[in-house]
Amino acid sequence: MSANSTIQDGSVVAIRYTLTSPEGELIDSSGDEALEYLHGADNIVPGLENALGGAKVGDELEVVVSPEEGYGPREDVELQAVPRDNFPEDAEILPGTQFLVEDDEGQVSPVWVAAVEEGQVLLDLQHPLAGVSLNFQVSVVSLRAGTEEELEHGHPHGPGGHHH
Ligand code: ZN
Repeated sequence: MSANSTIQDGSVVAIRYTLTSPEGELIDSSGDEALEYLHGADNIVPGLENALGGAKVGDELEVVVSPEEGYGPREDVELQAVPRDNFPEDAEILPGTQFLVEDDEGQVSPVWVAAVEEGQVLLDLQHPLAGVSLNFQVSVVSLRAGTEEELEHGHPHGPGGHHH
């Protein structure tokens, strides 16, 4: 088996995956189009990336990712209530919707809508999957060496990847 036929840092990998919760609920899936990512560039959660290292095309893996290797442990952080009026009127605000907020220092961070009630939006500063064990069913669809440009950018280009 040559080094180029197994997943390693710098490989551009296309995977199909289904993500379920420990209760067996479907959280996310790649659907019809495989997801392309650059291995070793933090494009996907660390636990999944580690499990895929050394795999080859056609491999199917079942991977259980702990919160620590997924979206982090859930900490006891209070939700932030923000008046609905602070959001654009036409914005769609549903539980799980992600927004980017900028603090006074210009630092941009993501927040997620936890709930909408009585003219207020409750925002969660933690990823909705923080504290959740992730069950991935993954199959490796294709594999190639990343180009110099892709390695420089830290993500794949072309179909399934970034377009720019
Ligand atoms: Zn790029």
